[in-house]
Amino acid sequence: MVDRNGWARDHPVLTGSLRRPPAAFLEQANVTDSDIYDEFDERWPECWERAADLLSWDQPYETVLEDEDAPFYRWFADGQLNAAENCIDRHLEDGRKTHTAIRWEGKHGERETYTYRDLYVATNEFAAALRELGVEADDVVTIYLPMIPELPIAMLACARIGAPHSVVFAGLSADALATRMDAADSEYLVTCDGYYRRGDAFNQKSKADNARLEVDQDVRTVVVDRLGEEMPHVLGDDEHDYHDLRRRFAGETVEPVSRDAEDMLFLMYTSGTTGEPKGVVHTTGGYLSHVAWTTQAVLDVKPEDTYWCAADIGWITGHSYIVYGPLALGTTTVMYEGTPDYPDRDRLWEIVDRNAVDIFYTAPTAIRAFMKWGESYPNEHDLSSLRLLGTVGEPISPRPWQWYYEHVGDEACPIVDTWWQTETGAVTISTLPGVDEMKPGAAGPGLPGIDVQIVDDDGREVEAGDSGYLTIAEPWPGMARTLYSGDDRFREEYWERFSNPEEDEWRYGSGDAATIDDDGYITVLGRVDDVINVSGHRLGTMEIESAITDVDGVAEAAVVGRSSESNGTDIHAYVSTEGGYNVDDSDMSETIERSIETAIGPMATPKSILFTPELPKTRSGKIMRRLLEAVANGEELGDTSALRNPEIVGEIQAEIREE
Ligand code: ATP
Ligand code: MG
Repeated sequence: MVDRNGWARDHPVLTGSLRRPPAAFLEQANVTDSDIYDEFDERWPECWERAADLLSWDQPYETVLEDEDAPFYRWFADGQLNAAENCIDRHLEDGRKTHTAIRWEGKHGERETYTYRDLYVATNEFAAALRELGVEADDVVTIYLPMIPELPIAMLACARIGAPHSVVFAGLSADALATRMDAADSEYLVTCDGYYRRGDAFNQKSKADNARLEVDQDVRTVVVDRLGEEMPHVLGDDEHDYHDLRRRFAGETVEPVSRDAEDMLFLMYTSGTTGEPKGVVHTTGGYLSHVAWTTQAVLDVKPEDTYWCAADIGWITGHSYIVYGPLALGTTTVMYEGTPDYPDRDRLWEIVDRNAVDIFYTAPTAIRAFMKWGESYPNEHDLSSLRLLGTVGEPISPRPWQWYYEHVGDEACPIVDTWWQTETGAVTISTLPGVDEMKPGAAGPGLPGIDVQIVDDDGREVEAGDSGYLTIAEPWPGMARTLYSGDDRFREEYWERFSNPEEDEWRYGSGDAATIDDDGYITVLGRVDDVINVSGHRLGTMEIESAITDVDGVAEAAVVGRSSESNGTDIHAYVSTEGGYNVDDSDMSETIERSIETAIGPMATPKSILFTPELPKTRSGKIMRRLLEAVANGEELGDTSALRNPEIVGEIQAEIREE
């Protein structure tokens, strides 16, 4: 059966049943009153004052929302504040001077601890140095650093002087850096000599040098000496050593610049899973309010917690939930350099154990890897300090959810499956762990004050059980304000499809497809662009993948469409298995097919299943379906430099040719 919107829907989406969060958690949760949804509805948009009140304002705002120029919304626009002051200075006055702000875990077991006072000193000195180099308010400073403490220090130093930062993920190429610097007209760069990836030292400065040759403008550069003797480097014209600068400005303080709430805090390029990277603009007041509020209400962070989001600061997750959210609340945020499997596959659990981490937030791709490695790694450690677990970045299907719940959370921690995007700034769909029941496989309802609607081609809300486009009907404080490349592109990309400007009705289109169930819980099915149309059935890639990863022994899966004469499109699946499974086993293929038939229906069974040791992934850890689709269709692959593991593509191509 196909529902009236053409989405295949003769099956309930694969989710587990509702579960109550553990009682001990509920007793202490930050938000426990279920009236919060009604409160937000009744007092919208003023309800968002609740988020803004978590911050200290230099100039209190009077208007909550200005919507005259939709979709260019303005939040708390007549208020003024400084993000760095909110994340650092005010905690010193609250008697939290010696409280740990950042705990850093280096690749080779190095550890550093920054108290709020240390962070105050470091960011002030570096802010003074940036000023001396010529950085003024509104100048975009590009930061191209790996996961070392100088990365959040540089971000907060920029925020202090009102200079928007544009952090470019350290693993991206020289070309990618140059494109982003050019696009943002950025004349300042903070980078380092190199860093360790697994065991090897990796040269970052040579990439930065190459990028500087490519950009049109002159660039002033600050270089952090991370590797010392191991990677000697020479400073050229307009290049400055970070530690020298810190020494030169030792003890200096810089008055935080009061920013209008709508002044730009940072620019963030999306990962580019679906094409051209987009420079997403986030402003100060609304963004910081929204991240602080969700860190408190969704991640349940308290000031005395040790909180760890094991993402990279080079992506939005790290901006919002390693740096700004936890520091705005005055908690201890852990950051780590390296990978979960080096020096061994228990790296993360060792860090949780040693630091008595309370809250842990990661991505399904990591959880599937942990599952593949087996439960002995978490079992070796005392993880009893954990109180809440979170996931973000992709849907998490019920089997990995259950694994995470049992083997990491010991059935004592609720899991929040948080849906959001670079463009939404902060979490927009999730259960509130102190209020709502959890449902493995579904993210949850829209948060209070976030009007998520799943709509059909005509923009009408679908009925429960049906699927459609994931849209948001009202603005929210953390939302992107525009794209750096221009307002037109912002409008076209996110607003045109589902809005009705003549009636002044505006609706944000997320680009994701989703379904909503009777409980109002939303399951993301895939990106709209990734939806495969097989004989008139519109099937979500993520949904089929979820049915595949629910098979015992499967680690990861990606499905793509291949043009075919008979059906229009056929489904092709790429599957990687857990260690110890025989990948040639045709039983596995059969089990996968049966699982898909049961979960979705026979029209969704793949034409071919290819077993591969790994799937091609972007540097942010997302499966690059676009590329797999090109491989399946025998097309040109184009640029594969955004991949973390480009070598796997050749192997897959060779396998396909053999078929
Ligand atoms: P680009 O937009 O450049 O292609 P991207 O969309 O991968 O890159 P992000 O903004 O980091 O960049 O990712 C947001 C996307 O991640 C969402 O649109 C959604 O597809 C997916 N996503 C995030 N969290 C979840 C979740 N909890 N469940 C399902 N999907 C999720
Ligand atoms: Mg996106």
